[in-house]
Amino acid sequence: MLFTPTVIKNLLKKPATRLYPFTVREPFPNYRGELYIDIDACIFCGTCARKCPSQCIEVDKEQGLWSCDPHACVYCGICRDTCPTKCLHMKDVHRKPMTERIMMVEKGEPPKPKKKAAEAAPKAEAEPKADDADKGESKKADAKKK
Ligand code: SF4
Ligand code: SF4
Repeated sequence: MLFTPTVIKNLLKKPATRLYPFTVREPFPNYRGELYIDIDACIFCGTCARKCPSQCIEVDKEQGLWSCDPHACVYCGICRDTCPTKCLHMKDVHRKPMTERIMMVEKGEPPKPKKKAAEAAPKAEAEPKADDADKGESKKADAKKK
């Protein structure tokens, strides 16, 4: 008796579900659909690959390759949200069902090594080592004692 009003209400109202695929819901803002990349803006930092919970992204900085297994993607959007250059995006539709397994592979221009890093290496070699400096100090002290 206690549930009678709820039962009557549920019998009279429309179902909350849709008869998919005959009725498809319209996309809404921030919908997380198919992932795609603007490869020209990618700096191959690898953040997306490290943060992806299903480990379906691979980044090869040397070759300038970015790849993703779309069948393993769970559409969480973490890669998109953590990308420092905001070059990952999600469409407002999902990938259509397919009979063959595919990989998303994009080739871009890998970042050139910074000049500073190359210049710093010979400098570091030219600078005296801490041990050498210590030896020099102790020699001076010995000379003073004599
Ligand atoms: S897509 Fe974004 S996070 Fe992933 S490697 Fe490129 S710049 Fe880094
Ligand atoms: S949306 Fe989520 S699961 Fe899919 S590639 Fe990005 S981080 Fe990985």
